[in-house]
Amino acid sequence: MPTRPFIPPRGFRAALRRVIELTPSTKHFEWEIIDGGALEFYAGQFVSLDVPHNGGREARPYSIASAPRDGKQFDLCLNRVENGYVSNFLCDMKQDAMVDLNGPHGSFVVSAPIEQELVFIATGTGIAPIRGMLSALLDNGEQLIHDVWLLFGVRHPETILYRSEFEALAERHTRFHFIPTLSRPPADWHGETGYVQTHLRKIFADRREFKAYICGLKAMVDEVRFILKEEFGLDRKQIRFEKYD
Ligand SMILES: Cc1cc2nc3c(=O)[nH]c(=O)nc-3n(C[C@H](O)[C@H](O)[C@H](O)COP(=O)(O)OP(=O)(O)OC[C@H]3O[C@@H](n4cnc5c(N)ncnc54)[C@H](O)[C@@H]3O)c2cc1C
Repeated sequence: MPTRPFIPPRGFRAALRRVIELTPSTKHFEWEIIDGGALEFYAGQFVSLDVPHNGGREARPYSIASAPRDGKQFDLCLNRVENGYVSNFLCDMKQDAMVDLNGPHGSFVVSAPIEQELVFIATGTGIAPIRGMLSALLDNGEQLIHDVWLLFGVRHPETILYRSEFEALAERHTRFHFIPTLSRPPADWHGETGYVQTHLRKIFADRREFKAYICGLKAMVDEVRFILKEEFGLDRKQIRFEKYD
């Protein structure tokens, strides 16, 4: 597997060009770099956003929710955390407001070319880096030669973030399998229900030749890693993850 050149993190300033409300508490942000040069990164990495706070500064990491485009634009997907300072500051920003950031950071990146089946496992805004990774893998006009699965756990159908995008990818790629699963399904839901762990066990039972990319809150990430290592016997090199808390 070729190693990727390290991209040294640098400081940038970005302007908020577009905001889309995905759910009452989650927003999709599209940013444009206006100072600092081109932002190079690998899909799945994160940036640290730095905002004013009580006369000082407060920084938080946010996964880049897009694949590298032109060095100028990138997306974020952000949850408004109750009583959280930075997430509320960002969610209240108006179009063309500016923010300081540095990056890229992190090693949650997908290895290309794909050499075996992949499963992406996300809950909530843990989908952000995975949206970027899937875009990098599936939006390049090439057909997949291995199956790629997305297990996405949320509570309600309205909170399946980027649902239409993933459904469109599944239409274009017969080897891409989008499996949203709801922990609180309504009566008229005909899709999968329960936790991502259940579906992981169903789909990959008795299999060892695949790679897993996991992102979300600590409890889910830890449990899925445990299943992959202890029940399935995967090597740690086959498991990549990012924890949000
Ligand atoms: C590598 C990395 C990437 C991340 N990427 C994203 C991303 O793409 N999108 C995103 O929305 N978040 C992401 N996060 C989480 C993000 O960095 C912040 O922790 C989150 O926005 C809360 O910051 P805050 O300043 O609003 O809350 P704080 O002021 O830090 O916390 C306020 C309170 O909320 C609790 N809290 C903090 N975070 C959460 C949470 N996520 N859920 C529930 N309660 C919480 C704290 O325990 C505390 O009690 C990422 C975290 C990491 C480590």
